[in-house]
Amino acid sequence: MTSTPKDKKALIEAVRAAAHRQVDKWVDQQVEMLNAPTLPTLRQMSDQFMQTRTTLLGGCLQEIVNQLTASYRQQELAACPHCEKNLKRHSLNTKTFNTLQGSITLERPYFYCRDCKAGFYPLDEALELADKAYQYDMQEKMLRLGIESPYAISADLFKELTGLSPSDHCIHETLNRIGHLAPIEEVIPSAEEIERRIAAATSSSEEKPVLVVASDGAHAPTRPKGGRNSRRGPGKWREAKGFRLYLLDGKERIVQIASWHQIQDAAHFTKDLEVVAGRIPQDRVRIALLGDGADWLWTAMTKCFPKAHEVLDYYHCAEHVHKVAKLQYGDTLEGQQWTEATITRLFMDQTGFAIGGLKRMQPSGAEAMKEIKKLINYLGNHKHRLAYQECKDNGLPIGSGGIESANKHICHVRLKRSGAWWLENNGNTMLRLRCALYNGTFDIALRPLQWHL
Ligand SMILES: [Zn+2]
Repeated sequence: MTSTPKDKKALIEAVRAAAHRQVDKWVDQQVEMLNAPTLPTLRQMSDQFMQTRTTLLGGCLQEIVNQLTASYRQQELAACPHCEKNLKRHSLNTKTFNTLQGSITLERPYFYCRDCKAGFYPLDEALELADKAYQYDMQEKMLRLGIESPYAISADLFKELTGLSPSDHCIHETLNRIGHLAPIEEVIPSAEEIERRIAAATSSSEEKPVLVVASDGAHAPTRPKGGRNSRRGPGKWREAKGFRLYLLDGKERIVQIASWHQIQDAAHFTKDLEVVAGRIPQDRVRIALLGDGADWLWTAMTKCFPKAHEVLDYYHCAEHVHKVAKLQYGDTLEGQQWTEATITRLFMDQTGFAIGGLKRMQPSGAEAMKEIKKLINYLGNHKHRLAYQECKDNGLPIGSGGIESANKHICHVRLKRSGAWWLENNGNTMLRLRCALYNGTFDIALRPLQWHL
């Protein structure tokens, strides 16, 4: 629908007149404050504005929408979007829509095609209205709060900051609905974006930057879905498997590439890691894989990055050594010396000597024997992942602190709240959105907000 400059001028004047009416209404709401015997503080004035702002802003929004949509609201004929048959207006239906500026109410022509058995509102489509009462601007803010704080707190904060009060259930529902639509392909940065981050971390004179691929499991509190008439089953701790890829630019700076955590099995974890591996230009970086002793993560990482350097997380490894020392020697100087000697051997790539030493040990008891055997197996299995000194010489990391902090910030901070037990799907939705935030893809993951849901 086109309009001439003259139409536009008339429109602007009509909006001006309508807005003046809203200002009058709003000024009426200030009379009490203006009549007060003492000077109100600026804080009091601002609070008063907050309480009455939807009169002004919501009112003006309603007026502008009314002016701009006049032709839609009077529409009596429309073509069926499926069969193109000409349809007469079926009815006028009124609905209220909530925005950050306040609520507006619209009477919208409804059309129904009997042949296609489908109805539609041309005005809703033209304005790209969400079919929920809360519009996309509100949904986006609800989501932003909901991924940081428990839903009840999010609802309180929302009210405090905007004066509007969606329920905590509404925030919960919005988050699950939108988050459900954010797949790994959207949450992980695109190949172009990853290229850009690698280029930024690469300076021409230096060697290739180090790309750390670290994997780990975190404990997530989950619960089964309750039956219609039964109580919910007991909660259960399950493993959220996660990976984090980040660049070391040689200046001890970490450049985030991608984080991904889901409560899922090893096969799905591998598939997900393949998605991000497919976006990494593997010849442009030196890749270090980091993990603890869990088999699933090594199987997945070596499949996705076959030429990478493998490093057993030093801190996990040292913890095993300390455990044996404590059981075998107690808190003694001998124990300390043995620990230092063993760790030095691991650093010097002398794992064979370290294992030999363990084998010659006379266990002080059954428990010590068990741990000694465990450590022998552990070192034997991960022998090729233990050359710590070589790593240091080549600028490769030996500890996966990066993934541990991701575990904390992505999983624990939001999932591990007292009394919170998550349905697997909802927990994973939360994890996806929180990963998107850390990956710098939150806006992309929010794209469904621009669509008709
Ligand atoms: Zn039709």
